[in-house]
Amino acid sequence: MAIQVKVLERPIRQTSYVRAMLKGMAITFKHLTNPHKVTWQYPEQKWDLSPRWRGTHRMLTDENGKAKCVACGLCPQICPANCIKLVPGEDEEGNRYPLVYEIDEFRCIFCGYCQEVCPEEAIHVGRHYENSEYSRAGFVYDLERLMAQTHPVCEMWDPADPRGE
Ligand code: SF4
Ligand code: SF4
Repeated sequence: MAIQVKVLERPIRQTSYVRAMLKGMAITFKHLTNPHKVTWQYPEQKWDLSPRWRGTHRMLTDENGKAKCVACGLCPQICPANCIKLVPGEDEEGNRYPLVYEIDEFRCIFCGYCQEVCPEEAIHVGRHYENSEYSRAGFVYDLERLMAQTHPVCEMWDPADPRGE
């Protein structure tokens, strides 16, 4: 059987690269002359973060300065990135507390599940993103470091206000 070649006719409007290039250049020049440029001089200028921004974690404390965590184990259980390490302890009165509590911010995907699931509203994702480090180990936040964070915490998604308006 002979092989046949079917030649497709395409209108010049779809194949003209000159036309596409001119269109692109027009957009570039439009932005060059735009007085409202979007280049920000970071770190002098910073974005106003959304109240729902999920960044660096923070462990809240009670009136005695102790972590509000009761080592229930829910947050390491639900964490999809498996980046929370908890070793629970118990005092002589039977109160549970975290002997070890660590979050690897490098592995975290900032889903916010830990905040949602915490019955004590102890652990929170925070409205903070400037947490770069020179080593992976530097991203592991222990309890003391989590408690020392002072940035605002994230407002969780509210089904009554899905768009945050
Ligand atoms: S925000 Fe998500 S991934 Fe990060 S520690 Fe919490 S549960 Fe794990
Ligand atoms: S869910 Fe809250 S109380 Fe439970 S282990 Fe995590 S931080 Fe502690």
